[in-house]
Amino acid sequence: MASEKNGSNGSKSKHIVLTSHPARFGPKPIAIHWGKADPIQRGPIIGTLSNASHRNVIGTHSGSYGVYRALAVASGQLQSDHRADLTNTSPAEHIGPHPSWSDPNKIVSLDPFGALVGEVYLSLYEKGYDIRPTIAITKAHINMPELGEAIAKGRLEVDGKFMKDGGDLVVTKAAIEPVWYLPGIAQRLGVSESDLRRALFEQTGGMFPELVTRPDLHVFLPPIGGSTVYIFGDPADIADPNKSLAVRVHDECNGSDVFGSDICTCRPYLVHGIEECVRMAQSGGVGIIVYLRKEGRALGEVTKFLVYNARKRQEGGDRANAYFTRTECVAGVQDMRFQELMPDILHWLGVTRIDRLVSMSNMKYNAITQSGIEVIERVPIPEDLIPADAQVEIEAKKAAGYYTDGVVLTEVDLATVKGRTLAE
Ligand SMILES: [Zn+2]
Repeated sequence: MASEKNGSNGSKSKHIVLTSHPARFGPKPIAIHWGKADPIQRGPIIGTLSNASHRNVIGTHSGSYGVYRALAVASGQLQSDHRADLTNTSPAEHIGPHPSWSDPNKIVSLDPFGALVGEVYLSLYEKGYDIRPTIAITKAHINMPELGEAIAKGRLEVDGKFMKDGGDLVVTKAAIEPVWYLPGIAQRLGVSESDLRRALFEQTGGMFPELVTRPDLHVFLPPIGGSTVYIFGDPADIADPNKSLAVRVHDECNGSDVFGSDICTCRPYLVHGIEECVRMAQSGGVGIIVYLRKEGRALGEVTKFLVYNARKRQEGGDRANAYFTRTECVAGVQDMRFQELMPDILHWLGVTRIDRLVSMSNMKYNAITQSGIEVIERVPIPEDLIPADAQVEIEAKKAAGYYTDGVVLTEVDLATVKGRTLAE
């Protein structure tokens, strides 16, 4: 990667420094020993761009937003060596440390100390190291119109603590940026680290040469979206085996989650998950919603809309028995979410058992249970919450092995489940 070197006065020189060849650096950066329980021994994640000799990772902070930072620097609005002022930014709730934090196999796609860097690496920060949090934890009140309906129908009750007047929910929320320990990611996917590095290098158009030139650096800050955790109840109770836990792991679907599109069950299922979380908190447990930026099964929204068109224009119309085929025709695969990495967030939170998993996805269930978390009960979406045009999706998923306590249609019956055409 090329970055422009700054002079000691912060002014830019025209000299480009390549960070892809370690011989240029001089002193070695602080080492990262992934999986160490002591954050000092583990070492901080340093993705700074203003001091190449401090960098101990490949890539940079802020995920996909790093590109906007580049625009801000290019247009002269942001000093390239700006270091975050972390005054009063410390976590609003404490999470961890949990035993999973020091198990190098349990967490490979985020930095468990990501919220605590202002505390545990304070002395290094004061020495001038540009160490940034990759996790931020705050508190909020949230509300969604469907919650009012749930109260009116008697499914939820205002208790004044977890749910306030008008359906306002009191939550703790955490934003998490990805931090990938490449040997662990490779192991999770069952590939060699060198094959993983090469594919990441090539498939980003050669964006990060260090993936292939710097085998001494094992941590990668990928340019992808992060995730958000919403906690209903006391976060300290999550790891308490005597407290019950409801969890929904939800992959972003902007069209439904925000705009209420009726072609899928995403928003109704998300709201149902929140209802389950509130009831769990009100009955003495904790509820967790994990929201991951993996739009359109991580194929992206352009691919998703292309698939919608292909589904609705195909001969015979949009029907459940052709649901997955159309995606594969456009994208080459049915899914790119790699749920194997998703349980890391649950392990960061200290989850060891889920009493009510609000999901029908066999991929999510398998990933969670194979990571060592026990699942007691799976909660499908109630039939009356499924939009008419989303019957195609839900019946196709159930036939493909998604969890249901209802009927799974035969191939013949699947062909009769149809959605709207584009003209309707
Ligand atoms: Zn959706």
